[in-house]
Amino acid sequence: MKAAYSFAWVLIVFNAVCGVQGVRAHEWHAVQGDIVRVETKLAGPHVSLWCFGKSWPVRMLPKGRWMGWIGVDMEQKPGNYHIHWISEAQRASGQLQVNPGHFRISRITVEKKMAVFDAKALARIRADHAALKKAYGIKVDALPDISMVKPPIHGVVSTPFGARRYVNGEPRSPHSGMDIAAPEGTPIVNPLAGRVLLAESMFLNGNTVVLGYGRGLVMVYSHLKDLHIHQGAWIGAGKTLGEVGQTGRATGPHLHWGVRFNGARINPDSLTGHAR
Ligand SMILES: [Zn+2]
Repeated sequence: MKAAYSFAWVLIVFNAVCGVQGVRAHEWHAVQGDIVRVETKLAGPHVSLWCFGKSWPVRMLPKGRWMGWIGVDMEQKPGNYHIHWISEAQRASGQLQVNPGHFRISRITVEKKMAVFDAKALARIRADHAALKKAYGIKVDALPDISMVKPPIHGVVSTPFGARRYVNGEPRSPHSGMDIAAPEGTPIVNPLAGRVLLAESMFLNGNTVVLGYGRGLVMVYSHLKDLHIHQGAWIGAGKTLGEVGQTGRATGPHLHWGVRFNGARINPDSLTGHAR
């Protein structure tokens, strides 16, 4: 249902309040966790796209028009936001209406040592978090087609994106990725060509790989059986980046697949259109 909004651009045309007369703007709709594809009639050799106080990747279309992608973070406050297109000579604006995601509640029970952490474990968790944050910020010089993403494995979604999680009854941060259950050893196929930004064993996430694909698109793969790719390596589309395992905090073999786009935590379904 959420995918109905993904890459959807709606429809309601209203006259731009600011910008050059005659340039019309659209109102776009999304839910929390979507990547939204937007377009403008603004032309020119260089056009930039702004929303949520930052710039977003753009691509030139035939006849000199432009499109762009905006990522709506899973916790972006619902409401109306301005979109601004800026070229050397002109400006245009639009609106993005963000609606709440329909996120499930998920409860898991794990061994006490994986739910209540001593000082040493907390230090590891913090170090892992810092390493991930650093990896997510690394720029990769590539220009992927963000609308052409295949899922890395096929399987059953055991914990969906955005789930409000309770571990042993205690509330935790919302699930920033999607858990896909599959037999241990199932090959994980890299959906787009990209650079390995991190390949490490982590306390909660187990063996974890982060790939950067360019245009601010980054994906994280966790609980892998082994680590056999190295930081800095370039991995082609369709190549195996690891196998499904249950390392770290996992109640069974599964892949945790997370998508970040320009810093926003994105629902993987928004990229694949539920193509699992
Ligand atoms: Zn997960």
